[in-house]
Amino acid sequence: MLSRHIDPDEIIETCKEHPHRKHASRDGRQGHVQSWRRDEDASAAAYQLLHDETALDGNPLLNLASFQEADKLIMENMNKNLVGDLWHAPKEGKVIGTATAGSSEAIMLGGLAMKKRWQEGRKAAGKDYFHPNIVFGSNAQVALEKFARYFDVETRLVPVKESNGFVMDPNDAIQYVDENTIGIIVIFGSTYTGHFEDVALMSKLLDDLQQRTGLDIPIHVDGASGAFIAPFAYPQLKWDFKVPRVVSINTSGHKFGLTYAGLGWVLWRDESYLHKDLVFELHYLGSVEYTFTLNFSKPAAPVIAQMFNFLNLGFDGYRKIAWKDLRNARMLSKALESTYFTVLSHPSNNAKGKNQHENNDDPEHYMAGVPVVAFRLNDKYKEENPSVQQQWIATMLRTKGWIIPNYNAPQGAEDVEILRVVVRETLSEDLMERLIIDILGVTEALAGPNHAFSGDAGQPKGITHPDHDHARPVKDNFDGLGEALEQLGFSSQC
Ligand SMILES: *Cc1c(COP(=O)(O)O)cnc(C)c1O
Repeated sequence: MLSRHIDPDEIIETCKEHPHRKHASRDGRQGHVQSWRRDEDASAAAYQLLHDETALDGNPLLNLASFQEADKLIMENMNKNLVGDLWHAPKEGKVIGTATAGSSEAIMLGGLAMKKRWQEGRKAAGKDYFHPNIVFGSNAQVALEKFARYFDVETRLVPVKESNGFVMDPNDAIQYVDENTIGIIVIFGSTYTGHFEDVALMSKLLDDLQQRTGLDIPIHVDGASGAFIAPFAYPQLKWDFKVPRVVSINTSGHKFGLTYAGLGWVLWRDESYLHKDLVFELHYLGSVEYTFTLNFSKPAAPVIAQMFNFLNLGFDGYRKIAWKDLRNARMLSKALESTYFTVLSHPSNNAKGKNQHENNDDPEHYMAGVPVVAFRLNDKYKEENPSVQQQWIATMLRTKGWIIPNYNAPQGAEDVEILRVVVRETLSEDLMERLIIDILGVTEALAGPNHAFSGDAGQPKGITHPDHDHARPVKDNFDGLGEALEQLGFSSQC
């Protein structure tokens, strides 16, 4: 059944930027860049520090004053300040923000603050304030659409273009803006392909618009995945509070912030952007507390784990992990590009030409984005194997334990199907090698006349989207496999 053309081991060796040397060092590897591991001494020290800090806060069992644990509040504040520094919150303003359950809650709050501010301005000007709209790309994660629908804001969805990396083109977005626009959400790390939308260009176009019309439209950056990558991998990139029009930024601690699920952050560049209607003052916990989250109680563990990683890894540790993830993403990209695929994110040949010697590891020398590899079958493979549906690759990889979603590109380019791999710290170089072997094996097994799914050829295809309200798996994609695979159409989140 198999018609193997390619030796995966050979592909892997040629795709490494730092091929293993013959004479291995102590940890078995000796390249120009060492595989990076966490430092155990630093871990122990960070643990002890947190343990002592939280011990002082008393036994939660004896804390009869509140359901909250004081240590969590302390950590939240310390973390918030660290995140504010990371995103260059202006020193002259008073940055304000909060921990949330995730980016979804953070986006609701960022959106609400923009809506309230817009309404207040319209009221003061004696104008209609009942028809707010918000502008973002059709590549938006479902949380953005939830905000708009839950809080009665008209969604102005900007179709994406393949030529623009399946993300919103600011030149298109500007056409959707009018006096009722509460703000633009710029997605910094697209769920579909990992691309960054261009915050600086969006800001410049809005500056021009303001000059022409007087409209002052704020930007909220959805940095769910990118806001914990860019500060470490792309320090030159202008996307954060350095851009004056960026009023608020959200991120997910549980994505590249490297903590457990259940933590996000939202920060405003200055407290004047967090409308006072959203802030509640509490007196019953013994001191004055301010709350402006949708949910009141939250688990402490992800906040403490985030603090642990900040202490243990520090800026340099996060930087090393981001670089490693991006290096692994490039290796996967190269292996895919040199065989049967077209890579839509991080094409490894898209190096910017600066110092392109073999061992150049600095992510700024490559196209910017989060460590996500989005890819599709290349035209040659499709020509030679017209009956093969890309979805089958996801299905067959699932039987080998890999969950790699296959979905359609966002509105504007929905005919393109995309397979996606999120490269996180846990996807080690060794696992990555296994993944490459499995992808190539499956793709070759599907080629030729007697492949595993030959009976299904010609079935109609449906449209699926990641993390989306209409992201229901298309039944046709799963028929005839003799196995329940309902979850397959959903992507795992970045
Ligand atoms: C994951 C994601 C979200 C939602 O974040 P949660 O932390 O899961 O609530 C929003 N926007 C983007 C771009 C995402 O990748």
